[in-house]
Amino acid sequence: MIEMKNVSKWYGSFQVLNDCTTSVAKGDVVVVCGPSGSGKSTLIKTVNGLEPFQKGSITVDGISVGDPKTNLPALRSRIGMVFQNFELFPHLSIRENLTLGQIRVLGRSEEEAAERGLKYLDRVGLIAQKDKFPGQLSGGQQQRVAIARALAMDPIAMLFDEPTSALDPEMINEVLDVMVGLAQDGMTMMVVTHEMGFARKVANRVIFMDQGTIVEDCTKDEFFGTVRSDRARDFLAKII
Ligand code: ADP
Ligand code: MG
Repeated sequence: MIEMKNVSKWYGSFQVLNDCTTSVAKGDVVVVCGPSGSGKSTLIKTVNGLEPFQKGSITVDGISVGDPKTNLPALRSRIGMVFQNFELFPHLSIRENLTLGQIRVLGRSEEEAAERGLKYLDRVGLIAQKDKFPGQLSGGQQQRVAIARALAMDPIAMLFDEPTSALDPEMINEVLDVMVGLAQDGMTMMVVTHEMGFARKVANRVIFMDQGTIVEDCTKDEFFGTVRSDRARDFLAKII
């Protein structure tokens, strides 16, 4: 589904990604972890063309992300992205947040968009909040709405960038539970997170990054087992 080959990226003279190669198959749940500043956000943003890269290649469902002829907005509309800070539209109701992209980007009718949006809102347990505004919801609820909004676009894969790191501790699990459900339903996911409980439960692979390099790309069992680099071991010792 996602093929990344020898991707390097620079911000000016600073190399943020160094020869990154990995792939994500349909149904894979890949957890990306590593120290702050190691390039995790940049890596997943290159996948849907939110960050350009200078070397290497990325294809998503056979479409080349770096090809100037590729219609990036169309590609992006097929890849769900959930950020640390929810990024809901504050001036729109929850229902409008759920329907806007479907109407504007996918050309769905108001009715169809509402039906699909509310179906996913129900799935994340928030149907009763449909007429509220984002500011009236807790952080955990807002993040669940953001996930529902992404799902309503029928994505072929979902990218998550530290979806629980801005949340109060008591709200982390309600978001992780939704993500676990998605993983168990077979959604293809790349998840930047330090929630190793989530990784243990549903990841089938773990990527560990340090200084722009993919240092480990292995199965969950290998990652949490004995075969791992000193850098990954030090990192795990600090966060677990
Ligand atoms: P992570 O998500 O692992 O914390 P990032 O991908 O956000 O790492 O950033 C990796 C490095 O790139 C950091 O050193 C960061 O300061 C730098 N960086 C990120 N975005 C920019 C930018 N727009 N311009 C310059 N440097 C950046
Ligand atoms: Mg980041």
